[in-house]
Amino acid sequence: MSNLTSHEVIILGGGISGLSTAWFLRQKGISFKLFEKQSETGGVIASEYIEGSVMDFGPNSLRDRNGQIRKIAKDLGISDDLIGISEAFKTRYIVRDGKLQSLSPNISSLISTKVLSASGKIRLLKEPFIEAGSGEDESIGEFLERRIGKEAVDYLADPIFSGIYAGDIYRMSKKSVLPKLAEFEQDYGSVSWGAIRSKKEKREVKPMVLSFKKGIQQLTDAITEKISDHITYDEVLSLKKSDSGFEVATEEATYHSLNVISCIPAYNLGRILEGFEPELSAELMNIDYAPMLSVQLTFNKAEIDFITEGFGFLVPRKERIRLLGAIWKSSIFPELTNKDQHQFTLMIGGAHDRGILTEPKEQVEQEGIREFCRLMQFDARPSVIRSRLWKKAIPQFEVGYEQQKAKLDRFEGGNPGLYFGGNYQWGVSVPDCIQGAEGLAEELAAGL
Ligand SMILES: Cc1cc2nc3c(=O)[nH]c(=O)nc-3n(C[C@H](O)[C@H](O)[C@H](O)COP(=O)(O)OP(=O)(O)OC[C@H]3O[C@@H](n4cnc5c(N)ncnc54)[C@H](O)[C@@H]3O)c2cc1C
Repeated sequence: MSNLTSHEVIILGGGISGLSTAWFLRQKGISFKLFEKQSETGGVIASEYIEGSVMDFGPNSLRDRNGQIRKIAKDLGISDDLIGISEAFKTRYIVRDGKLQSLSPNISSLISTKVLSASGKIRLLKEPFIEAGSGEDESIGEFLERRIGKEAVDYLADPIFSGIYAGDIYRMSKKSVLPKLAEFEQDYGSVSWGAIRSKKEKREVKPMVLSFKKGIQQLTDAITEKISDHITYDEVLSLKKSDSGFEVATEEATYHSLNVISCIPAYNLGRILEGFEPELSAELMNIDYAPMLSVQLTFNKAEIDFITEGFGFLVPRKERIRLLGAIWKSSIFPELTNKDQHQFTLMIGGAHDRGILTEPKEQVEQEGIREFCRLMQFDARPSVIRSRLWKKAIPQFEVGYEQQKAKLDRFEGGNPGLYFGGNYQWGVSVPDCIQGAEGLAEELAAGL
């Protein structure tokens, strides 16, 4: 069966990237059809209400730097359900020598923290006086070792990048992941000077960290509800050029359109482009994604001694502990937890630990819980344990990603009407994906 619908834009993928692209197109009056291969939308965004607590198995919090989340929530009619993070989030903990050590984002905390030794702190503070490097791409680990020293890389940078990207900083690209810091080094000779200068630029909107009363999935559910008539739950099997633009074949039918927007992960796009552009297809399938096991726990308040306020803790790989970190969910979003319970999210896996893909899930989960209880000094069993394994959770922007991206851009440029979006193009955070989608919708509207 073939449907000729060349006036509709075809969107591939119903994660936040595809859904928000659809939402912005709808606001501009552009008709579209969105394909999602699973039986529900959201992609890695997944929230469930379990025994009185909202559990987020994908993203837990949204850093709304410039008001985008507030704006889309308002337009969707769910702004009354937004919840702001508690002040507790400013205090974070890092494991050093098997113990949690606090660290807040201010200079006095940096001076007093036990996360770094005295010599590590002195080396870190010398950053403004370290000569700039060549400007060529290199790994984040090499770049930061040069700027702030090995100890600060091991105990600050490594846990932070494990926490955000589940990544290996000695493989991730400075230019793709930290373009601003790389520019600061070249423009000001130091990342600290650059950061101080750029802070002086006034922000129009106060940044906030947010969630929703029903968890992050409330956002994707709200978009889905508004555009449900335009969603087809069918896997896209191939994408090719055709006489009338592009041909998209799914399990059920073949569609044609002048404009196709891909918001599916790079490895999925690679698969469907095999018959169209084999070389690019191989390149896309080579973009690495790190796995992640997200474990949600609650404990009865009466059974544990937990009075600490904070975002949670991160574990440097040097500590030789499997757990990547834990978010103290009931401390940052108390509204999302049963009032008799404390809630925590554990993260296990990442680019350093592909073993989670082959070992039994329960075994990895239990190992993580044992390590967590030891670090937190809890002598109790969780009242609820739920977990989800994301086999390909987060794209890794490795050194050389710039060239891969340039190839993608060239291919897009050579095929007007074809657009590549999604977190490997727009950035991994949910707000980055929404911002990318809005920019693309504007570009498309201007060209139609
Ligand atoms: C465990 C975890 C924690 C995270 N924490 C945070 C956080 O706290 N804050 C934050 O901002 N970000 C966080 N992120 C990152 C963020 O959630 C993701 O980068 C973002 O949600 C990705 O959205 P996407 O739409 O680009 O991709 P995806 O969510 O992967 O969606 C892609 C969609 O395409 C569909 N698809 C694939 N192939 C096909 C096909 N052939 N045909 C049709 N459909 C197809 C898939 O089924 C899927 O629904 C986290 C990610 C993970 C995994």
